[in-house]
Amino acid sequence: MNKITSLNKLKYSENLLLIKEKALREDVPIVSDDVLTYLVKTIKLLEVKNILEIGTAIGYSSISMAINSVANIDTIERNEANFNQAIENIRMCKLNERIKVFNEDALTIDLKLLKDHYDLIFIDAAKAQMRKFFEKFSPKLSFNGVIIIDNLNFHGLVYGNIPIKNKNLKSLVRKIAEFNLWLSQKEDFETYFFSIGDGMAICRKKNE
Ligand code: SAH
Ligand code: MG
Repeated sequence: MNKITSLNKLKYSENLLLIKEKALREDVPIVSDDVLTYLVKTIKLLEVKNILEIGTAIGYSSISMAINSVANIDTIERNEANFNQAIENIRMCKLNERIKVFNEDALTIDLKLLKDHYDLIFIDAAKAQMRKFFEKFSPKLSFNGVIIIDNLNFHGLVYGNIPIKNKNLKSLVRKIAEFNLWLSQKEDFETYFFSIGDGMAICRKKNE
């Protein structure tokens, strides 16, 4: 691999590589290497201790963040098959003390089940609901905590000038574009967008 990013030394255990292969084989959407590097960089620089993730899938991103830091992770997954697979994978990696998975819909989960505050919130679930996730979980940010949101360019379609025929896809892409604009204009947050991976943003609440 002739890429500058091949110089990054992210830790991948053997089990994690098996999980990654399985995800790729079965078309489970997992975080890109670039976004994962960005997440780990942020966790280290901000000395993040507690992470909340919306959208576990089969645990690949939470296991990766756990292996590469000392943070504890709460993660929410509504799909039961994914949840069960995540639990199995996390156990296989012996990380069940540090990663807690909630088999819940993030839109309806009782916030009291979660910690009061998180240093990092990673939003990576249903892309049509990003604003709802943002509004529901941003009050859980600790002082100077950050929110990172994945897939803001959705397979390159949001800013790709590619004609989309499928109606549902078209509506999803429009929703993501609207969310991005809303986020960029949100006065109480400072937000930076990056075209790494599938497009991502990092946001921090302004301190009055
Ligand atoms: N973060 C994972 C990938 C998550 S894929 C990784 O990088 O490894 C998105 C996941 O979000 C899917 O498993 C989907 O079932 C879940 N999801 C979508 N909407 C959700 C919701 N409202 N509440 C909880 N989970 C949701
Ligand atoms: Mg993603």
